[in-house]
Amino acid sequence: MIVGILGAGQLARMIALAGYPLGLDFIFLDPSADACANKLGIHLLGDYNDPRLLAELAEQADVVTYEFENVPADVAAYLSAHTKVYPSPNALAVAQDRLIEKNYFQRLDIPTPDYVPVDSFAELEQAMTQIGWPAILKSRTQGYDGKGQSVLKSPDDLVAAWALLDSAPAIVEAFVPFDREVSIIAVRNISGSIVFYPLAENLHRGGILRVSESRDNDGMQAQAEVFVTRLMESLDYVGVLALELFEIEGQLIANEFAPRVHNSGHWTIEGAETSQFENHLRAILGLPLGATTAVGKTAMVNFIGGLPTCKDVLAIEHAHLHLYDKAPRKGRKVAHATVCADHVDSLVTRLDLLIKLAQQVDNS
Ligand code: AMP
Repeated sequence: MIVGILGAGQLARMIALAGYPLGLDFIFLDPSADACANKLGIHLLGDYNDPRLLAELAEQADVVTYEFENVPADVAAYLSAHTKVYPSPNALAVAQDRLIEKNYFQRLDIPTPDYVPVDSFAELEQAMTQIGWPAILKSRTQGYDGKGQSVLKSPDDLVAAWALLDSAPAIVEAFVPFDREVSIIAVRNISGSIVFYPLAENLHRGGILRVSESRDNDGMQAQAEVFVTRLMESLDYVGVLALELFEIEGQLIANEFAPRVHNSGHWTIEGAETSQFENHLRAILGLPLGATTAVGKTAMVNFIGGLPTCKDVLAIEHAHLHLYDKAPRKGRKVAHATVCADHVDSLVTRLDLLIKLAQQVDNS
């Protein structure tokens, strides 16, 4: 069985690593010659909309999936006319435009921050009279890890924020003074069964995820499951989906969803009975889903911009290192590490050590 993946970055790499024990082979389409999954399967090197490469991918792969959502919508549509594609191109289309995504949440009665679409500077000024200060201006498309975003604290920020967008269509949304950020990772298979992982509590800085910690019996788990179920059922979704949420005064507000495996689920490799990567493959291949139960307390730390030594990470008890085989560069995620523990106290001690290592190499 051959699985095709659009994108050959670290998420594709971890999907492939989870797929080999199941006897799967992989073919990736990615425009970057040094894409870090390329040692784990056939790498079709070229643009996502190269018709020759798309035809080859469709021909070779029994099923195609994505490792990121910003592939052109017509690419997914072309592939789904020629082979099985999960999740569906529709899920991709909703997730890749923040305005369509927020309208979709609203239709499903999933709360969002207040938002207004803006296509010109005049519309931005007008929108601010509705949204109020502070706010966040975000490009509608191609945004990830805080890219294409500016916080608007006062009218003085408007000109620079608008210039950064370079006339791209955008939305302005109310800044949520959240108590914490959480995400729920859920998996739905072809016959409609859904399983949920325990919530992850996430720490971002500069729009980039730094630390995720799995939560035991979190008070927000049930609410998050209701929202993600609504979303997956409405999209007739197949695969792993991550819904990112803000918690404020005991309420959850949706920020965005990712139609793919997600950084806040990397802890599941060591911390859950079945990893998000394996469960994504099980879902898209029509196999029974694996248990999502946490096997202890787990936290994950991203290494951004620079690499720690293997020795330093592995010297921390119950730490596991995942190097992505990517050259370190400012702001680039190049590795992550997970720490596990039976008790919260030991988790906190080990996590502190890991965070210190990450801070030493971080140049973002
Ligand atoms: P995003 O790319 O939309 O996931 O945003 C990246 C990060 O920016 C989020 O994880 C939050 O930490 C922060 N952020 C985004 N939107 C808002 C908002 N409306 N209010 C407060 N913080 C936000």
